[in-house]
Amino acid sequence: MKLVLATSNKGKVREIKALCEDYEIIPYSELIDEFEIIEDADTFKENALIKARAVFEALGDEDVVVMADDSGISVDILDGAPGIYSARYGGEGASDKDNLKKLMEDIASKDVESSPAHYTAAIAIVTKDAEYSVHGWMYGTALTKAQGDGGFGYDPMFIPLGFDKTLGELSDDVKKKLSHRSKALSLAKKILKTL
Ligand code: IMP
Repeated sequence: MKLVLATSNKGKVREIKALCEDYEIIPYSELIDEFEIIEDADTFKENALIKARAVFEALGDEDVVVMADDSGISVDILDGAPGIYSARYGGEGASDKDNLKKLMEDIASKDVESSPAHYTAAIAIVTKDAEYSVHGWMYGTALTKAQGDGGFGYDPMFIPLGFDKTLGELSDDVKKKLSHRSKALSLAKKILKTL
C-alpha cells in the first residue's frame, strides 16, 4: 500500500513516521511539486479532509491512500484561539517562532502567566472508495515563556497534564506516548489495517 502524507511540515512528518513504523510513508512533496491548499473550512476535520482530497486528486493515482493531519492548539483564556488558525496565528507566512511569540504575548496580555490549553489533531484518510477521519487531544497548560527547544511549533510553551516540563524540554518519546497526534494515529492505524 502506497501511503502518502498530505503535508510538508517537517515536525509532523517526523512524528508521523516515528508513530507509523510499520508503514512506508511518503510525503507528497517527494512525488509531485508542493502546491498551496486552501484550508477554508471551520473544523480541524474538514480541513484535514480538504488536504487529503486535494493531494489524492493531484496525484491522479487510484491506488494510493492519502493521509492528512490538521492540528492546532486552543487556549482557554483566549476563548479557544488560535485553534484552526494555529498555523497562521502570527500572520500570513508567519514562522513557527513568530506564532509561538504571538501566542505567548497574547496570553500575557490577559495578565496571567499560564492558561489551560489543549492540542487537537484530526487525521483524514482518503482512498478511491472512501473517506475517514479520526481525532486525538492532549490537555495541559500554555505558558507565557518558552522553555526548551525540542518538538516543534508551540511545544516550548506547552506543559502536558501530569508533567512539570514543556514539550520543548521533554523527550520525543514522552510526546510520542501522550500526544494528540499519537492518539489520532492509533485510531487511524485501525482504519489502515482494514484497507
Ligand atoms: P496545520 O499544518 O494547518 O495543521 O497547522 C498546524 C499548526 O499547529 C502549526 O502551526 C503547528 O506548528 C501547530 N501544531 C500542530 N501540532 C503541533 C504539535 O504537536 N506541537 C506544536 N505545534 C503543533
